[in-house]
Amino acid sequence: MFAILFLLVFLVFDGRNAAEQDASAERMREMERYQKVREEICEVCHLLYDRGYVVSNDGNVSVRVEPDKVLITPSGVGKGRMEPDMLVLCDLEGNILDGDRYPSSESKMHLMLYRERSDVMSVVHAHPPMATAFAICRRSLKERYLAEMVVGLGEIPVTEFAMLSTDEVPESVRPFAQDHNAVLLANHGALAWGPSLLSAFDRLETVEQTAKVFYYVERIGGGVEITQEQADILRSKVGMYAKLAGKRS
Ligand SMILES: [Zn+2]
Repeated sequence: MFAILFLLVFLVFDGRNAAEQDASAERMREMERYQKVREEICEVCHLLYDRGYVVSNDGNVSVRVEPDKVLITPSGVGKGRMEPDMLVLCDLEGNILDGDRYPSSESKMHLMLYRERSDVMSVVHAHPPMATAFAICRRSLKERYLAEMVVGLGEIPVTEFAMLSTDEVPESVRPFAQDHNAVLLANHGALAWGPSLLSAFDRLETVEQTAKVFYYVERIGGGVEITQEQADILRSKVGMYAKLAGKRS
């Protein structure tokens, strides 16, 4: 009788142990599959912190690793201290597929952009001081002040104010998802998206740099916009600049 009981307990325990081992092995495979992307996300997180675009637990970064899967930074971890195994794997509805932390509390705005734009592969959000000041003043960054903006990022609008961590945040960004690559989040910060992690980071950095230039323009007494005709000529050169950005064949 005791022998049978012992055998049953052993089998149940052994079965549970095998299931735990399977889950652990699957997690290891998930980790290894996206290891390079995890490391790249951490590099960008460290850059955001080193350049003063975030402090404490500010900001969030995500990368689409498969058409319907996204790696995103967790809630409550300083970007300067981000490590690859802290990232969370989610589907586009926000269901957690892997990771032992909670995804960023602002993951909804990331996921909305991935659902709206199949070409978006990365989203970066931070609180760069000058861009955030413009977001607080609800002042968009006009396209026709800077020739580079006309051929690059375009105008950077300001969203409606949205309560943090609610559906209001993705809804405030949605009107700009198709025709823009970055926005200022009213009374909050900056958000950029793009076809790669580095392009999204570069765009966010450009938003901050542009905000600094615009600040100086206003301090000096106001700038002069380029004309619509000049802007149209600049736009006609976009293809040429894209070609020059590649390797010579
Ligand atoms: Zn934020």
